[in-house]
Amino acid sequence: MILNTQNLAALFEEQLNSWEQAGSNYEALAKVLVKDVVVDGFPFKVQFNPARIVSSAAKVDAKSISERKCFLCKENRPAVQKGLDYINNSDTANPYTVLINPFPIFPKHLTIPLLDHTLQLISGRFDAMLNLAGELPDYTLFYNGPKCGASAPDHFHFQAGNKGFLTIEKHLEKMESEVLFRTENTTVSKVNGLFKGLIALVSDSPSQANDIFEKILSVLPLKEGEAEPMVNILCWYETSGVNKDKYVTLIYLRDKHRPSHYFAEGDGNILLSPASVDLGGVLITPLEKDFHKISEIEIKEIMDEILIPESVTNAIVNKIKTVL
Ligand SMILES: [Zn+2]
Repeated sequence: MILNTQNLAALFEEQLNSWEQAGSNYEALAKVLVKDVVVDGFPFKVQFNPARIVSSAAKVDAKSISERKCFLCKENRPAVQKGLDYINNSDTANPYTVLINPFPIFPKHLTIPLLDHTLQLISGRFDAMLNLAGELPDYTLFYNGPKCGASAPDHFHFQAGNKGFLTIEKHLEKMESEVLFRTENTTVSKVNGLFKGLIALVSDSPSQANDIFEKILSVLPLKEGEAEPMVNILCWYETSGVNKDKYVTLIYLRDKHRPSHYFAEGDGNILLSPASVDLGGVLITPLEKDFHKISEIEIKEIMDEILIPESVTNAIVNKIKTVL
């Protein structure tokens, strides 16, 4: 079956009834503890979600990955897991499958892998992210780079969660920003504040957004031994507010995969492995001790550590201005 709103609603209903693990995890999600923490004026939600331990504590080093069966490959998925086909018109040779994520953070949480087992690298595939955002106007799409939270860095995939969940969707308009580039269709800006170096790309033209995205990606810093710049990306088709009918893309520039709190012994330990959802304003703590402990101070420390330093941001912004 192909991806459309009706088939997606039917898939959710079918999977939550027939797949016990998914059904019970979605049921448990409705009862998770949530608390609000404001950091530098930005409204975070913290979610205590024990089922997410599988992702937050995932071993993503090359050896561990090579020794496990890829859970996104069709032949390794549970027989009960069904999906919808999605073919991106400009890349018909590489179809995607839209799956229900059995370890949800969102009330509706999708995983969208390529059919083929292909490395998690965004260049050449962002176009599919924009088109999926257009196909799924009730969802926010997200991409976690191979060293930025993806628990399957060996199999290309997006995820998506229902809109109205990530706090940045609504708060973005209130954040101070600096315009770097503007055309009739597209604006690129640097969003100031807590998420240092956050680049916002807002466009009513998916093809122009795609061209600009590839240009930005080409000038982002690449760490030694890495296949792509460290990024998390959110992308949605906005249906209200100042960006109505536009594709909104947020590019978070990362410096570190996991913060020192993740590895700390004793009281300093917080098992939080930041990825797109956390940067979108919903912090996931799989352990209850961390849910209660985490406050404005730790969140600020984590953000400071995992995002690129302000000094590097300015150099990147200058490069982006040059290339656009
Ligand atoms: Zn695979």
